[in-house]
Amino acid sequence: MKDYDVVIIGGSAAGLTASITAKRFYPEKKVLIVRKEKNVLIPFGIPYIYGSVDSIEKDLIPDAILEKNGIELLIGNVSELNKDEHLIKTTENEIIKYEKLIIATGSEPAVPPIKGADLKGVFTIKKDVQYLAALLEEVNNARDMVIIGGGFIGIEFADECKKNRDINLSVVEMLPHCLILAFDEEFCIQGENIIKESGVNLITSEKVEEIIGNERVQGVSLSSKKTIKADVVLIGIGSKPNSGLAQKAGIEVNNIGFIKVNRYMQTSGKDIFACGDCCNKKSFFNNKPVNYMLASIATNEARIAGANLYKINRANDGVIGTYSTVIGDTALARTGLSVSEAEIEGYDYIVGQAEGPNCHPGCMPGGKNLKVSLIFEKGTGIIIGGELIGAKSGGELINLISGCIAKKMTANDIATFQMGTHPALTASPIAYQISNAAEIAVKKLRE
Ligand SMILES: Cc1cc2nc3c(=O)[nH]c(=O)nc-3n(C[C@H](O)[C@H](O)[C@H](O)COP(=O)(O)OP(=O)(O)OC[C@H]3O[C@@H](n4cnc5c(N)ncnc54)[C@H](O)[C@@H]3O)c2cc1C
Repeated sequence: MKDYDVVIIGGSAAGLTASITAKRFYPEKKVLIVRKEKNVLIPFGIPYIYGSVDSIEKDLIPDAILEKNGIELLIGNVSELNKDEHLIKTTENEIIKYEKLIIATGSEPAVPPIKGADLKGVFTIKKDVQYLAALLEEVNNARDMVIIGGGFIGIEFADECKKNRDINLSVVEMLPHCLILAFDEEFCIQGENIIKESGVNLITSEKVEEIIGNERVQGVSLSSKKTIKADVVLIGIGSKPNSGLAQKAGIEVNNIGFIKVNRYMQTSGKDIFACGDCCNKKSFFNNKPVNYMLASIATNEARIAGANLYKINRANDGVIGTYSTVIGDTALARTGLSVSEAEIEGYDYIVGQAEGPNCHPGCMPGGKNLKVSLIFEKGTGIIIGGELIGAKSGGELINLISGCIAKKMTANDIATFQMGTHPALTASPIAYQISNAAEIAVKKLRE
């Protein structure tokens, strides 16, 4: 039997970050990561294996980071957790005693109950090197490909698979727009137009009823009874939490399978914490349950869990909901509440919008437009959301807006905040999008 102070199950975004945080806060403690896979993929890099990053090897997290931080590693599948004895057991018969445990077992792809989902040539997005290598070979040899699901993962895959490949590619989305669960309609339509221009066949308001074929996939049939030819089908409809181990050990799990944690990332098990895709999340705005599964949230929770192991140092204020994607060379990003979400939550709100180039003058090399929309609560003038589309610098700007939301800044605070600008690096100080969007909101609030 091995004995450690801190044991972390899972070695991806959450597990790795939790282990490093644990070592930073408690350098004298012996920390072990136990994970199933020999090589860990950079999970959010997976779509780029099929285009921009042309190999799986380039999308791996190097283990050197563990050694550098004094963290030990065991490759093994944890099959049992005995929370009374403070023990875990792997299928390889390793028994490990822990003082504190962090469960960071993540998620696995959700598979819809569609007939034909088990045919050869049908894939989900498993975080598994060999599986993704098989998918790469199939995509490279395919003439016709169908992606089920037009969320940000489906769209990123479509965009990448189309790069440098002569392939007929369709995306089927059952909602009226792709990305509609994340963005307001105006932004979705602009995103859809870009993906269509790249030659992707976008089919919305249609459901895949069946994946057809004998042993191997031949196509999909839609709710409209149309069929689309396919040599390869990729199901990208989301993920479900990997919480079976915790549940079996008697740790509380909510009604949709997420491990229950409090603000300090503590589970119902003594000395057991959880973070990442496997645990439940609450909204920053109203504490209601939300189902975001993002690496950025996973690492944020991991920094809280790792810091709190022996003393409560940090608390989780809830999920703001910040994320970004890119279609072609256009960034789309959002944070906080969208207009439609603000309406559902009953907010009285106003929107300020501003658009301009990301450098100045706009004719500078690499110049591209960036449109920013900010949403403020009417009475208080506090920012509750933001969306943007355009230049890739928007990927960082959305994080700044997320910070404004976290600190509950008002339209007036944002209109007058002190930014630094440079012709080659940022928008002009006169046309700085978030200041101007906030200034428009200030005007509306005064009216
Ligand atoms: C295609 C794709 C694109 C994405 N793009 C983005 C993006 O752009 N931005 C973003 O923020 N998020 C993105 N995400 C989401 C992000 O990848 C996840 O939120 C993130 O991986 C969650 O990290 P995690 O550590 O909680 O779980 P996971 O990454 O699922 O890792 C779980 C770990 O636990 C281990 N494990 C599980 N069970 C056991 C066991 N019994 N014994 C031992 N080890 C075990 C696994 O082997 C793995 O190491 C994307 C996801 C996908 C699939």
